[in-house]
Amino acid sequence: SAQSALNFGAGPAKLPREVLEEVQRDFLSYQDSGMSFIEMSHRGKEYTKVNNDAQSIVRELLNVPANYKILFMQGGGTGAFAAVAMNLMGRTGTADYAVTGTWSSKAAKEAAKYGEVRLVYPQHKKSGSIQDQSTWTLNPNASYVYYCDNETVDGVEFPYIPETNGIPLVSDMSSSIMTKKLDISKFGCIVAGAQKNIGPAGVVVVIIREDLLGNSMKCCPSVFDFTYIAKENSVHNTPATFSVYVMERVLQWIKKNGGLEVMENQAREKCGLLYKTMAESKKFYTCPIDENVRSRMNVPFRIGGGDEKLEELFLQEAEKLRMHQLKGHRSVGGIRASLYNAVTLDDVKLLVKFMIEFQATHG
Ligand code: PMP
Repeated sequence: SAQSALNFGAGPAKLPREVLEEVQRDFLSYQDSGMSFIEMSHRGKEYTKVNNDAQSIVRELLNVPANYKILFMQGGGTGAFAAVAMNLMGRTGTADYAVTGTWSSKAAKEAAKYGEVRLVYPQHKKSGSIQDQSTWTLNPNASYVYYCDNETVDGVEFPYIPETNGIPLVSDMSSSIMTKKLDISKFGCIVAGAQKNIGPAGVVVVIIREDLLGNSMKCCPSVFDFTYIAKENSVHNTPATFSVYVMERVLQWIKKNGGLEVMENQAREKCGLLYKTMAESKKFYTCPIDENVRSRMNVPFRIGGGDEKLEELFLQEAEKLRMHQLKGHRSVGGIRASLYNAVTLDDVKLLVKFMIEFQATHG
């Protein structure tokens, strides 16, 4: 089989080789049916089982309490920005947002189409930081408080779960779901696109506390209506069947490999290697992120103080070594290494080796 490349993409991103091989093996004839899973009805017994198994494994891995529903939706993370507002903001017409980077900023803008969005602090002071919770003010009348657990572009991750004094907490976990243990009971709702840590693009996982259902706005399309989707067990219409199937396989792989405790320890070890390499590089590699909020998943850095030619050369040489998708997001430039669950410690060691060699030649 072809040697696989090293993939540090931010999403869609690397998936476990074992899972890809399994999916390939079963592609033309799913469980000896003579049909591909991709050809099967979403109301047939095969998809019904995959749908239910996928919900069960999400519940098991994250220890989701019984009073939460698990939904599979479409529309991407961006669709979820609107869905959150249309489903949850109607209760009081206003919601609080913590803007810590690109994705929470987009979520706040989208939500403002459906009600009053109030920021928990007036101005995001500095990129690469998360303003301490002691500086936040919360509106007791907010329908919910929203934050993005891991800002994929900006490289900041919350090292804690915000305290909201009883106001439902909503989190975008698109780039951090299934990478650490969580106390789900602290959340009203979690939304996460699958295409980074847990599967292919095309499916969004929603975990929602049951008592928050039933508040959707009249304008909410039924495909975005959590209440309706929950009632229909996520087969209200044709779901992204193949994406849910692959996601279910990835979640089983996570379980087989030790679950979230192991994912969490590996994540810390992987990002630790990169941050250490930068710290020891005498500022050849610099990370513009406050140390206490550095993401374990997306590590942005600059080379030579932001020397774009040198960064371009770094990317070219990395490509020659088959290290792909290291380019920083177009809005911030520089380099970004994403280290999701399927990226191995060995992958990161090879990247570190390359970084050290590149510095020796060009530093
Ligand atoms: N939230 C986060 C944290 C993301 O990283 C992304 C995509 N990178 C999105 C939302 C938007 O997701 P999508 O592209 O699926 O709309």
